[in-house]
Amino acid sequence: MTEKKLPEIRVRIAPSPTGFFHIGTARTALFNWLFAKHNNGKFILRIEDTDIERSEKKYEEDILESLKWLGLKWDGELYRQSERLDIYEKYLKILLDSGKAYYCACTKEELEKEKSEMQAGGQVPRYSGKCRDLNIPPEKAQVIRFKMPKNLIIKFSDIIRGEITFDTSLIGDIAIAKNLKTALYNFAVVVDDYEMKISHVIRGEDHIANTPKQIALQEALAFPRSQYAHLPLILSPDRAKLSKRFAAVSVADYRKNGYLPEALINFIALLGWHSKTDKEIFNIDDLIKEFELERVQKAGAVFNIEKLNWLNSQYIKNSDNKRIKEILADIFEEKLPLDKINDKLINLSKDRMNKLSEFMGINDFFFELPDYPSELLIWKDIPANKISDNLKSVLGEFKNFEPENFNKTDLERMIMPVADKKGRGETLWPLRVALSGKDKSPNPFEILEVLGEKESMKRIEIALKKLKDLNG
Ligand code: GLU
Repeated sequence: MTEKKLPEIRVRIAPSPTGFFHIGTARTALFNWLFAKHNNGKFILRIEDTDIERSEKKYEEDILESLKWLGLKWDGELYRQSERLDIYEKYLKILLDSGKAYYCACTKEELEKEKSEMQAGGQVPRYSGKCRDLNIPPEKAQVIRFKMPKNLIIKFSDIIRGEITFDTSLIGDIAIAKNLKTALYNFAVVVDDYEMKISHVIRGEDHIANTPKQIALQEALAFPRSQYAHLPLILSPDRAKLSKRFAAVSVADYRKNGYLPEALINFIALLGWHSKTDKEIFNIDDLIKEFELERVQKAGAVFNIEKLNWLNSQYIKNSDNKRIKEILADIFEEKLPLDKINDKLINLSKDRMNKLSEFMGINDFFFELPDYPSELLIWKDIPANKISDNLKSVLGEFKNFEPENFNKTDLERMIMPVADKKGRGETLWPLRVALSGKDKSPNPFEILEVLGEKESMKRIEIALKKLKDLNG
């Protein structure tokens, strides 16, 4: 018995290198990648750099870097539209030779005028078709236009949004190239999707209006039609399109801010998709297993930064210290006091951060005791000399410790009875202030363990001096 071979699933991500890799593009990339992995298919990367004025190498580098960081590896070679101009030319000629495309001589000004007249008359603005039958020679042309079939209803079945129809008479003859060497977006996409054997086009909802144009071009060239899935918009909490005002929009910014790639992946997977269960934490293998386009919603997906922060804090807690240290070095560069970053400090910090960029801020007092007002050492109305005595009693306990046993469990066991005898508040409060110079910090036993015996003693001595000065 021979098994019927199903066509291979091939999807693509087609970013334009005209800005830093956007979180929305990352979501499109992830959904394409997951769909490919789930179906044993291929994930193609195509850089859409036909707009030479706006495309920049640094943005292309950022796309590649961001995809690598997120772990979204593409299959096969990396395509650049700028390297495929001959291919577009070949198909442009086919359309021109078969009379399905024509040269148009209308200038920008004429088109602007036409557009405003149509708008004023309550019409959907589109090209009037003025040059359609004028046989304009190439040397007089401004652009090459596609003869959009008239009064045709183009229907397609979107995997997410169901049936969508467009009336071609509202579209008009679109420009498909500036000239034979410069194809424009809709045309280049159609040629590439065909040449790259793309089975499914999965992209943002903002491209829906391009789909009937692309389908009409596919039909003119006798290309098979891809299946379409348009992903919902990503919205700010006020339901407007996500903007910089609410959250960073580039993946590089999330990286710099100390979000872990697996947290960002988990978060963006949930921007419009949900699993059959109400599980929130997904590793990449779970996502591959569970991802289905049919479970992507139509409604806009609201970007909730608190949720991302929560997810990130969970992933930070479960990351190993070596990796955390590497990421910290990446974020803070030479500002990170590497010699002071040990497992104890990382363990203590892991529970206290939503993102790794908070590391220096929450730990600054470990690296250097801040100057603090002497009064901060005073608990309620307890006299300074009593506070001093309590700190001295704590110091007295230190002699029972070998430096290597200076750990929070044993310290707590030895110091708590002293605090109970002297008064908890009036012992533990000044101890914490002496160690951290702050009114808010982790508990003193944790700080003692991280600082170690020598530095802790030094800081308590400083506090004792401050208290002495207070006493006058
Ligand atoms: N280059 C387009 C963009 O950056 C994507 C085109 C497509 O997915 O068809 O939005």
